[in-house]
Amino acid sequence: MNTYDVVIVGGGIIGGSIAFELSRRNLRVAVLDRQELMHEASWAAAGMLSPAPDCPAAIPLVPLGRASLALYPQFVASIEESSNMRTGYRTDGTLEVLFHGDAGRELSTLVALHHGLGLACEPLRLEEAGEMEPALGRDARAAALLPDEASVDSRDLGAALLAASKTAGVTLCPGVEVISLVKDGKRCAGVKTADGGAFSAGQIVMAAGCWTSRLPEAAPYAPTRPVRGQMAALRHTGKPIRRVLRSERGYIVPRDHASPQKLVVGSTLENTGYAKCVTSGGLEQIFRAVNELAPELASAEILETWSGLRPGTPDQLPILGPTGMEGLVMATGHYRNGILLAPITAKLITEWITERRTSLNWEDFSPLRFASGNAERSATG
Ligand SMILES: Cc1cc2nc3c(=O)[nH]c(=O)nc-3n(C[C@H](O)[C@H](O)[C@H](O)COP(=O)(O)OP(=O)(O)OC[C@H]3O[C@@H](n4cnc5c(N)ncnc54)[C@H](O)[C@@H]3O)c2cc1C
Repeated sequence: MNTYDVVIVGGGIIGGSIAFELSRRNLRVAVLDRQELMHEASWAAAGMLSPAPDCPAAIPLVPLGRASLALYPQFVASIEESSNMRTGYRTDGTLEVLFHGDAGRELSTLVALHHGLGLACEPLRLEEAGEMEPALGRDARAAALLPDEASVDSRDLGAALLAASKTAGVTLCPGVEVISLVKDGKRCAGVKTADGGAFSAGQIVMAAGCWTSRLPEAAPYAPTRPVRGQMAALRHTGKPIRRVLRSERGYIVPRDHASPQKLVVGSTLENTGYAKCVTSGGLEQIFRAVNELAPELASAEILETWSGLRPGTPDQLPILGPTGMEGLVMATGHYRNGILLAPITAKLITEWITERRTSLNWEDFSPLRFASGNAERSATG
């Protein structure tokens, strides 16, 4: 039996960030992944760091997103220092562009919503927006600058995080699939793996993304489901695009400021089960949005296409914290925001494991909101 202080199931950005944070508190940590680490949703992500809600259901997430965005400079600095690798962190902001409907009124609503939530948002005249980003399409009817938003190269971040975690003493175990939990009375004491092995630990953290619900003991606390997103990368030979460009239909995220420039563009939101593929309909939807935002990209070469599975939840909020089973902690369901929320998730889970308290109220995200016997909720904090 392999024994650790903490075993983390799932080596995506969430499991990796928690492992890195815990190892800096001198805990013995193992991360188990059924395949290569960092090769699922965290690899597929666009890497926008945007705490703005994309729908009313996401409003309770804003304080968590703001707190995480504030942690990002330190988060990437410590990863880059420990790994000696780059993460592609950029702080150039986002240009939110409106093309349809009553754009003037929608802009006022957008600005008021952001300000009400404590998020910076500056309405722009269209000439100003065009000067900031010359590639912007002429059909734009209104635009606003979200100056505090940032982005990261999620693949570079994932690779650097794994290297940093290894340097910090985390045991990384690719090709180890967890098939069930080991119980000691009412306590969760470890996990069993598909190869007949077992790991024991004081705390088990479930960070298996959209697959968390496939583990029968985790499913009542984490009814996650896959929401597919398709993406593409383009080679842009025109004047480099500096900021993230986003409309209600899609987005363009610069990966560098070079010429030619790599841009990633997306995405779709599809409830198509666990099938990861790229479809002509999905790409058509993405490129319609991209060509509206920046028409000159219609002639850009397509470098790559891919898709990934976001960990969705019934209420579109993440699932964080202790469960009704002692020793079992959830860190999943980050849906469209897992890259943004990685630093705050790692901080809160680490605080809970090491101090049994959290510096931010995470009650809204408790796994007990799904499990029967919600009465346990107040008892576990
Ligand atoms: C197209 C797309 C664009 C996105 N854009 C953004 C964005 O711009 N900004 C943002 O913040 N977020 C974005 N996201 C969301 C973000 O990618 C996810 O929220 C985040 O990656 C979730 O991380 P995770 O570690 O929970 O899951 P994952 O990265 O999916 O990792 C889960 C891991 O668990 C492993 N696993 C599963 N079952 C088992 C098992 N039984 N045993 C062992 N291991 C197991 C898997 O192999 C996998 O490696 C995007 C997602 C997609 C798909």
